[in-house]
This record gives sequence, structure tokens and C-alpha cells, in this order.
Amino acid sequence: MSDRPWNDQETELLKTLVETTDLTFEQIGKRLGRTKNQCIGKARRMFLVRKTEHVSRAPRKEAKKKPVRHEAPPPILVSKEGCRWIEGHPERGKPVEFCCEPIERGSYCAEHAARCYLSDVRSSANREALKRSGIGRSTA
Ligand SMILES: [Zn+2]
Repeated sequence: MSDRPWNDQETELLKTLVETTDLTFEQIGKRLGRTKNQCIGKARRMFLVRKTEHVSRAPRKEAKKKPVRHEAPPPILVSKEGCRWIEGHPERGKPVEFCCEPIERGSYCAEHAARCYLSDVRSSANREALKRSGIGRSTA
């Protein structure tokens, strides 16, 4: 029994027959003029896998994708009464709340009304509020 080396054509044919047909190694050997064992040995060295013998042991893809949770923006605590000035910075993750101080003018307390209505600096209360907030300038 000669054990001549496999040439490229034989190797390719073996690969094709092993991977794409249901031929036994004995049948493949006959086509290639080789023994069954020679074909089996060569196939093993090439790490060929017979599809018909292939037992799927691949891990099942059962890993469930966790649903993407969209972080809800911080709730805006809506107050039915009180100053509507919004405190907090929702973009910075800080909770947003309304000022809720007693309404002095419009929808705001005295201080926040002064900050909203900058043109109205007639009352000393507003001026004081502006000074405290660092926005206003003393007109006295
Ligand atoms: Zn306020």
C-alpha cells in the first residue's frame, strides 16, 4: 500500500467530498485511489467536519438580551398652587421642583417674579430680591 503524499487536487477533492456529500470514507477512498483509513487520517489532519456526522454542541444562543431601559427623566413635581419657578437642572440629573412659595405676582413668588419681570424694579422688595439673586443692580 503506497502512502504517496496528497497533492492539492486530491486534498481539495477530499475536502469537497467530505464536507458536501454523504459518501463514506470508503467510497471517497475509492474515488481518490486511496484506502479508507488514508482518507480518514487526512480528513482529521485537515480538521474536516462531516456535516452528516456533525452534532451541534454549540452553545445555544439563549442569552436573552436585556431590554434597553431608558432612564426616565426626573419627574417634574407639578404644584397646583404656589410659585411656578422651576428649581433644579433636569439635564444635570437633579430633581426638578417648583418653588411653591406663595404667589406674589403672576405665577411666581416675590423673589422669582422679580427675576422674571426684570423691568419691574419699582418695589424695594423686588430690588432686594434681585440683589439676593445677584441679578439686579442697585438703583438707589
Ligand atoms: Zn418662587
